[in-house]
Amino acid sequence: MAIESFNPYTGRVLRRFTAFSWAKTERILTQAATAARTWPRTSFAERARLMHRAADLLRARQDELARLMALEMGKPVADGRAEVQKCALTCDYYADHAEDFLRDEPIRTTAQRSFIAYEPLGVVLAVMPWNFPFWQVVRFAAPALMAGNVGLLKHASNVPQCALALEAIFHAAGFPPATFRTLLIGSGLVEKLIADDRVMAVTLTGSELAGSKVAAAAGANIKKTVLELGGSDPFVVLADADLALAAQTAAQARMINAGQSCIAAKRFIVHKSIIKPFISQLKTHLLALRTGDPLDEATQYGPLARPDLADELTQQVEDSVRAGAKVELFGGQSKPGTALFRPMIISRVKPGQRAYGEELFGPVAIVLEARDEEHAIHLANDSRFGLGASVWTRDPQRGEAVARRIEAGAVFVNSMVKSAPEMPFGGVKKSGYGRELSYLGIREFVNQKSIWVA
Ligand code: NAP
Repeated sequence: MAIESFNPYTGRVLRRFTAFSWAKTERILTQAATAARTWPRTSFAERARLMHRAADLLRARQDELARLMALEMGKPVADGRAEVQKCALTCDYYADHAEDFLRDEPIRTTAQRSFIAYEPLGVVLAVMPWNFPFWQVVRFAAPALMAGNVGLLKHASNVPQCALALEAIFHAAGFPPATFRTLLIGSGLVEKLIADDRVMAVTLTGSELAGSKVAAAAGANIKKTVLELGGSDPFVVLADADLALAAQTAAQARMINAGQSCIAAKRFIVHKSIIKPFISQLKTHLLALRTGDPLDEATQYGPLARPDLADELTQQVEDSVRAGAKVELFGGQSKPGTALFRPMIISRVKPGQRAYGEELFGPVAIVLEARDEEHAIHLANDSRFGLGASVWTRDPQRGEAVARRIEAGAVFVNSMVKSAPEMPFGGVKKSGYGRELSYLGIREFVNQKSIWVA
């Protein structure tokens, strides 16, 4: 794939970049490996000072960065600013808490003194997607840098300017340049980098296919990985739910980032007694959303990030309808090869149809009818994915009991799924493994070293 900025709203190429050669990539890796020896010697206080400065710079440049996202991947500017603010919050969070999270942990044994020390691993490669071009990277970079690791970023090929802007922010904040570098490379060089002894670990956020390739290469080289992959999150509406609130939140949860979020609600599993009014209210909320130029403040959802993604989504819907699914709300692309995709609702989705088993990475809501609570749980778990889920009921205890039975990395009761710096984030099943955020996230890429003094 060419490394280029392409505006999905206008269909114009904004800028093309020459991909780094292996020689250039290898030079940067050498510098990163050198930095990995000195960076851990800095104090937490020093790293925190720089990380707070990065947070300040993110806040100061939020308009410019939001504009960049609007241009490169079609995110409305208001949403872009919110993303940048969340990045700043997360930089502050790890600046404030990293030292506590990585403090020596005394363990009572027969030794005079025994404890766990958390030490950085060294150079960590991050392979990242385009959907939240700043957030996905900061979620990795803030804890990694605070832990004393060094980051190499291979971002998605359609967001090179976002990748360079983030590198510039860390450098302007005062991080030594070699501690965080953007590599403008295609996915072809990733395996070679993983095989290099100087790369100690890899994290990937993206599709199941890319995750399996990267994890296979890492496995062959005995390297730790964290995988944050796709999802087909269930949104379970039980018979006693607040229907109006559930339907309103459903529209919001499906339409995060024009539907291109791993934790967007994708399968709406609704009790049969309320399915008709649910569909009708969901339709009303989806139709009320305004699309347009992502640079326009009034735009609520933009185009998909690339026309080929919209073509693929159309194909998934058409194949499902051919196999028996029913269109409840017509939308989709106005013509093939264009990126704008209007929201759709489909029902009568059954096993064997693509919409039942695959992730729909765009604004298509699937509604599944549940006979009762047991059936709803069965449908929620009948998926290869296990990222997030939400459950709607007026009885919080019932909600919690159902939450415990859903196979997912996170379940929210009477709320849409969201990420926050304090709570761990990650999946089970084909949604990946390992956790980001919280104290668990910063402990993924450290040597959890046992020290025993007899
Ligand atoms: P993608 O095609 O897998 O791309 C993600 C990254 O992997 C890009 O940098 C891509 O580089 C790289 N890549 C692709 N194939 C590779 C290979 N064979 N070897 C090494 N690197 C490779 O995914 P996407 O379309 O950008 O993102 C959408 C997917 O990400 C969805 O499934 C979504 O659910 C998932 N996602 C998950 C999370 C989470 O936290 N769980 C968050 C966001 C998104 P190129 O761009 O150069 O191909």
